[in-house]
Amino acid sequence: MLPVLVTGGAGYIGSHTCKALARAGFTPIAVDNLVHGHGWAVKWGPLEQGDIGDRAFMDRVFARYRPVAVLHFAAFIAVGESVADPQKYYGNNVAGTLTLLSAMRAAACERIVFSSTAAVYGEPMQVPIAEAHPLAPVNPYGRSKLMIEQMLRDFDHAYGTGSICLRYFNAAGADPDGELGEEHDPETHLIPLAVGAALGKRPPLKIFGDDYDTPDGTALRDYIHVTDLAGAHVLAVKRLLDGECSEAYNLGTGTGNSVREIVDAVHRVSGKEVPYDFAPRREGDAARLVASAEGAKAALGWQPKYTDIETIVKTAWRWHAAR
Ligand code: UDP
Repeated sequence: MLPVLVTGGAGYIGSHTCKALARAGFTPIAVDNLVHGHGWAVKWGPLEQGDIGDRAFMDRVFARYRPVAVLHFAAFIAVGESVADPQKYYGNNVAGTLTLLSAMRAAACERIVFSSTAAVYGEPMQVPIAEAHPLAPVNPYGRSKLMIEQMLRDFDHAYGTGSICLRYFNAAGADPDGELGEEHDPETHLIPLAVGAALGKRPPLKIFGDDYDTPDGTALRDYIHVTDLAGAHVLAVKRLLDGECSEAYNLGTGTGNSVREIVDAVHRVSGKEVPYDFAPRREGDAARLVASAEGAKAALGWQPKYTDIETIVKTAWRWHAAR
């Protein structure tokens, strides 16, 4: 079983990827400071609790496990917070990644899959968004992720560090076996908030904006199931182990669903109404964000399995209803 390091391995997408890695015959070593991650989500390999920005800690982890590759999820991800406190985002995301990359070089670990985001594109000039779309992030979170992508290209050029950047659209859903799910604090994402409102565990949902230029006036997003994201990471590691390459790929289904369609899907899946109110648009929200994921399909042989929004919402519903 080849060891791979998974930073942020106790987080939402990281933990699902650890499960997928174990199923594919790797040993995932989760590195997580547990600021937002959950110890209970680390089930498929050891947990090393610490910070990617702590060089001595990272050196010890590399020396102990000798990983063949790194999957790098650890990051702060809240757009609004990144605007209010950019130092926190550039410090953890950018400076933390530089320390991680330095530790990798010192340990002669030369392959990394990076958790990037559709936020690197900024306001879309056309949809679906392909990788060739201009990169113009509109907030510090997106800029921190783009800076890391640029660092990775420079590291490949200078030191031969192979990297694949995976630009996620809207990660959604939960492990179909019910072993893992989404648990952010504070929660800002639509599906868990809508499910929580239907369960009566959260206040009525606020739908941000009903006056977008979309069929029902609410914003369109490309919801991609977390297990499909996890599968793409396994394929990306294998691709890097097969040979040198540095690329960036979108991960989405290519379908846009509106906020109203999500509310309807939660209703259909659960049989419960989602109480909601309309609220003004959220600052910085685009009307439509839909991926072209043809690059990942062609280069990695990736094919999302959970392409139907009702199925995606059903896995989320089962997870939240059982908690
Ligand atoms: N959204 C909403 N109410 C909420 C949270 C989100 O209407 O309480 C909308 C948001 O404006 C966006 C979509 O749901 O159009 C998805 O938002 P989310 O925060 O889940 O992901 P993002 O697209 O911001 O990455």
